[in-house]
Amino acid sequence: MNIAILGGGESGVGAALLAKHKNQEVFLSEYGSIKDHYRQALQDHKVDFEESGHTIERLLKADLVVKSPGIPEKATVIQKLREADVRIVSEIEFAFKYTDAKIIAITGSNGKTTTTSLIYQLLKNGGYDVGLAGNIGHSWARQLVSDDHEYWVLELSSFQLDDVMEFSPDIAVVLNITADHLDRYGYDIGKYAEAKMKIAAQQKSFDHLIINQEDRLITDRLQNIKSSIHKVSNQHKKVLSKDGATSFEINLKGTHNIFNANCAVQVCEILGMSYESIQQGLSTFQAIEHRLEELPPVSGLRFINDSKATNIDAVQYALAAMDEEVIWIVGGVDKGNDYDTIRSLVDEKVNHVICLGLDNTKLIDAFGNDHVLTEAKSMKAAVEQAFELGKSGQVVLLSPACASFDLFKNYEDRGLQFKKEVERIRETAQS
Ligand code: ADP
Repeated sequence: MNIAILGGGESGVGAALLAKHKNQEVFLSEYGSIKDHYRQALQDHKVDFEESGHTIERLLKADLVVKSPGIPEKATVIQKLREADVRIVSEIEFAFKYTDAKIIAITGSNGKTTTTSLIYQLLKNGGYDVGLAGNIGHSWARQLVSDDHEYWVLELSSFQLDDVMEFSPDIAVVLNITADHLDRYGYDIGKYAEAKMKIAAQQKSFDHLIINQEDRLITDRLQNIKSSIHKVSNQHKKVLSKDGATSFEINLKGTHNIFNANCAVQVCEILGMSYESIQQGLSTFQAIEHRLEELPPVSGLRFINDSKATNIDAVQYALAAMDEEVIWIVGGVDKGNDYDTIRSLVDEKVNHVICLGLDNTKLIDAFGNDHVLTEAKSMKAAVEQAFELGKSGQVVLLSPACASFDLFKNYEDRGLQFKKEVERIRETAQS
């Protein structure tokens, strides 16, 4: 088969290496430039490729195009391929053909990485031969070249699910569907929800689907599902077994994490894991970096890094999880936030708002009248302000509700800078 790969990033290069490994004719095409280590990998494996533009005529000759999740449907190259009726699939769909493993796939607007990592750790701890892929770590296709497992736990974004056709996990989890990435779906949340629900569209009657029972965007879309549906409430205050008779302890803050853990426990129960093994795995799981990550306090002032909270829903859960008065560091590139939805929570919990962004107009309009609010144009300034204002017993929460690229490379860079600045004030406070 003649396979063309669109995109020279992690998933594109992964798909190209898997195609080559399976002795297919393969050509990779990247619109921009390919990073050195990916170019090297393509050359090492003798994969034919181009960069700085697509040669459409050549792509049109492909029997199958594997598209990277970052490429939007409206891109000219995709439209040309669609007009010519070329079959386009995602890396996940492509990789799926090359494994017989049992697949556990997780999607949702928030909580994917946490829940995926938790399920992976529970299985690994329980002695399962399990791999981790998707939106997290190395591409699934690339890992399948050398390293198949009996089980795979996959974190899937809606972009990865856009172009699946036959992909069908043994266990699917849909955590929640809230406004995010709507620019890719014509600002239609229904279309975004449809993309997420594709995770279960091909499941058979012996498969399982775990869902958030309070989320109408999910529960309204269950008519054609053939798998067994397991409804999990996001209102539980405890992590419980399916029959509700056994409760488990976790080391994570927030009711959202109780929900994530309840979904993970359902997966383990479906697989037949013992309660003892589930509890052992839960006990060893710590918050993932940049997700309500607690740093050691400085002079009694707590610091929490929730840099990954790039939308309002995540911030809502973060604020709800705080028992102390909050100095809230918020801001960045607004993705269409409606701050009214968290106004009462902010009134209840937040003592001081520090706006960390180039343009803070929207935040100032939303909270400037009723709250003490200051601005900062760097993480250093924001953390210094927070330390000056904060008192022992309060908490400084970085939970930005916004994308990071006005002042930072990405959310990881923002979280790392936060941690570095907190470390700096700790050293100053101790000296
Ligand atoms: P994702 O991979 O979907 O972006 P993460 O696990 O990285 O999810 O968490 C992203 C943000 O969402 C963090 O701020 C985290 O605290 C918050 N979060 C985690 N789980 C949930 C949930 N079930 N509902 C709402 N927010 C959540």
